[in-house]
Amino acid sequence: MRPQKIIAKKRDGEELSASEIETFIDGICDGSWADYQISAMAMAMVIRGLNEAEQDALTNAMLHSGEVLDFSAIAAAKGDKHSTGGVGDKTSLIIAPVVAACGVAVPMISGRGLGHTGGTLDKLEAIPGYNVNLTSSEFHRIIEKCGFAMAGQTADIVPADKKLYALRDATATVPCIPLIVASIMSKKLAEGLDALVLDVKTGSGAFMREFEDSRALALALVRTGTNFGVKTEAVISDMSQPLGQYVGNAVEVYECMNILRGEADASAAMTTDLSLELAARLLVLANAAGSIDEARIRAEEKLANGEAFECFRQNVELQGGDVRVCDEPTSLLDRELVRMYVSAPSNGYVSSIDTLAIGNSICSTGGGRVRAEDTIDHSVGLECLVKIGTRVSEGEPLAILSCRAGTKEMVVKQFADAYTIADEDVVIPELVRAVISRH
Ligand code: URA
Repeated sequence: MRPQKIIAKKRDGEELSASEIETFIDGICDGSWADYQISAMAMAMVIRGLNEAEQDALTNAMLHSGEVLDFSAIAAAKGDKHSTGGVGDKTSLIIAPVVAACGVAVPMISGRGLGHTGGTLDKLEAIPGYNVNLTSSEFHRIIEKCGFAMAGQTADIVPADKKLYALRDATATVPCIPLIVASIMSKKLAEGLDALVLDVKTGSGAFMREFEDSRALALALVRTGTNFGVKTEAVISDMSQPLGQYVGNAVEVYECMNILRGEADASAAMTTDLSLELAARLLVLANAAGSIDEARIRAEEKLANGEAFECFRQNVELQGGDVRVCDEPTSLLDRELVRMYVSAPSNGYVSSIDTLAIGNSICSTGGGRVRAEDTIDHSVGLECLVKIGTRVSEGEPLAILSCRAGTKEMVVKQFADAYTIADEDVVIPELVRAVISRH
């Protein structure tokens, strides 16, 4: 069938059959659909939407556009966590070793940061020598040895998404739930999982800022995972302020090392809490615990008794990283950086934080990328000293920026402007806003 006929069908609001959707995805992969036809189809999908059957057909066609990993040789249940992206969102580095220490294998395929959100691969690459470009057999071998591996997507996994996402990015067709769901879930389903926990962020630093939009995305993700036979649950978590103590690549690994070593500051508590919540839910879905309470106790034990830390250390060694970052986490901190203070303009309570602005400002200090091909400075970062609800005095530091010499005062001002100080006490946002399951 000619591309224009399928595009016209969706343009006119008709339902596409699974075979028409397959033709579209095949056309992306074999080059028989031109970029303008793919983009026109994406726009028709954004405007007309996709029903559940179409969305599943799209997910299925994208999933089978490439390799689907097979971990059947690994006896343990396979589970993973996926986040829709945030600022200071580093929970993968805690969840993977905690869950692996509890006996569930974690084949974690992650992405790089783009725009204001960070990416797990960039954080891992702040560890000198750490290799995120693993072959399938290396990925398997590392999971067998330490229970988890963390790598980037290979060209063989969901190749249709790479092309489609780049065109969506350039044609204003990213914000569309069925397209987002097919993109995220095809990549997660290609990991050959039994269980999946999704951390759908909401608030000023999230991809979906409004709670109702985050909820709609979470429902669609859970429904799709379940339709494909993977036990799936979503947690809608707060991203109206940076998560935990640090934002930046090396400093986020530093925070995680401190958590895994039991040496973290109180300001890292949010990172620990959310990691344990997501880890516990994953353990229950993977049948490694009978209840959330039981799973949480086990996860806490693995953190407290150092087994999760040992698991992470072993993984760093297996993936070629320098284990000094585990043994002496301060080795992650770059002593050449300049520290600049972001101060409170007045007395009062921190009433809101523009988390998007914080993420963008980290990007402009070199810690993130605007375009996929940009290189990043892994060392720069922000230490967040206050949270929403903290009472502050005029001139008191809200955050400390570690940046390169020559960074302009204007950048510090951008960080300062992200904080709103009010006279009255404010409501502190709940870290876990909702849990979406499909039982
Ligand atoms: N993340 C993805 O992987 N795909 C999307 O479409 C949006 C966010």
